[in-house]
Amino acid sequence: MMGMQQEPQSNLFYVGINIDKRVRENHFLRRVKQLIDFDFSYEEVKDLYGDNGNVSVPPPVILKLMLLLVLYNVRSERELIDTVPERIDWLWFLGYDLDSEIPNHSVLSKARNKWGVEIFQSFFERIVLQCMEAGLIDGRKIFIDSSLVDANASNNSVLDTKSLRHQLHKNYKKLEARLEDSSESVDSSRRYEKKNSRYISSTDPDAAIVNRGKPKLSYQVHRAVDRQSEIITAAEATPGDVNEAHMMLSLIEKHQTTTGVKAETVVADSKYGTIENFLTCYDRGIQAHIPDLREAAVKRTAQREIFLEDRFWYDSDTDTYRCPAGNLLKAKSLHMDRQSRDYAAPKKVCAVCQLKEQCTKNKSGRTIKRHLRQDELDRMREASRSSKSKVDIKIRQHLMERSFARGTRYGFDRARWRGLWRMRIQECLTCAIQNIHVLIKHLTTPKKSIEARVLAVKTVFMEVSSPLIVEISGAFCGQRCH
Ligand code: SF4
Repeated sequence: MMGMQQEPQSNLFYVGINIDKRVRENHFLRRVKQLIDFDFSYEEVKDLYGDNGNVSVPPPVILKLMLLLVLYNVRSERELIDTVPERIDWLWFLGYDLDSEIPNHSVLSKARNKWGVEIFQSFFERIVLQCMEAGLIDGRKIFIDSSLVDANASNNSVLDTKSLRHQLHKNYKKLEARLEDSSESVDSSRRYEKKNSRYISSTDPDAAIVNRGKPKLSYQVHRAVDRQSEIITAAEATPGDVNEAHMMLSLIEKHQTTTGVKAETVVADSKYGTIENFLTCYDRGIQAHIPDLREAAVKRTAQREIFLEDRFWYDSDTDTYRCPAGNLLKAKSLHMDRQSRDYAAPKKVCAVCQLKEQCTKNKSGRTIKRHLRQDELDRMREASRSSKSKVDIKIRQHLMERSFARGTRYGFDRARWRGLWRMRIQECLTCAIQNIHVLIKHLTTPKKSIEARVLAVKTVFMEVSSPLIVEISGAFCGQRCH
């Protein structure tokens, strides 16, 4: 006989309900609650609260709410708080009961303003340390990349500060007042001074216009990812117009501070292949598996159909170059700003040279630029063209794309809030969640199953001699293949 659903009658009292039993054993939040310490926040923020007055929502609860916001990619804090009473798993995770009073959504923004970035940075670093203790980080080889993030502001809010028409606009006056106000009242760690201050968004002055097919207000997130299990060991956020190459050293240092392991190899794409980065790696004894940015300049020279620089032979004893026509190019002007020296043959020699058409389009003759540390630079560039480096560069592309693609589940590609320091909070939370996922998977997957996967990959690739495929298989299974 078919059952008929009766109109439900709500009970006046529910007896014997155990909220803990309503959350399944393998629920992700149960694992998070078991493994991640949120109580550290009491100690971190205790100096920011007074001894009397209104009792605040406990800091671990606020931190958990922020985690839920990003983990479930909830659109707004208001929506998050509205959803909490409807979700038994969230109530349980937060330590609430069915009839507990849920805090107002404004506690989250108030706590952020009170706490700043530091506590979220600590949270991220603590997760990295846990991953380290679980043996998920090797630390000696890191992959670096950046990705643009849409700012939480409309392009219509951008004002040209040099245009008189815009200066008369009512939003401009508001912006000026806000910038003056923020420069006085906001502490220095949350203040950012724009390099390009001509075009400023009146709603998010820290975001920068970046041309991505069409101009967009953007931030940029930078990450260092460890090779072994793809744990993010260092993260940073900047306005979108910051040159990512300038962030390499900061990421290397953060990686070392957090993990306590010195990176021996850095892998990145050609945007990081600048002279400064090669020399920074040289000074620190780090191998730079980075395509040379100069290759693009070499291609341009080839397109102009003139002799490439490798046709000019350098003699270190006399500090001169010898050109393809056999003439000497002597040291001329020194450019301290770019740490290089120009070498050229006398003008009259080039003027009558039979190879001039193939050598230069310049009327006054050919000039060769040599960096003051050219020998070190050449050594680093040579190493960046090795077969090992090529393998790493190929792996980097997929590994970093995976890291950012996983971040899109948590809305990393759109800023939730306005202001650079809030963008940093968002990135810390996103990276912490991505690492928690790897940590939980590692700790809850039976060891036998991991070994079986590694063995299967080894067997498949045993007969394959290409180191590239073996390396990729290692990255795929998230384990080191020996
Ligand atoms: S143009 Fe000048 S630098 Fe070039 S090959 Fe002739 S002499 Fe040498």
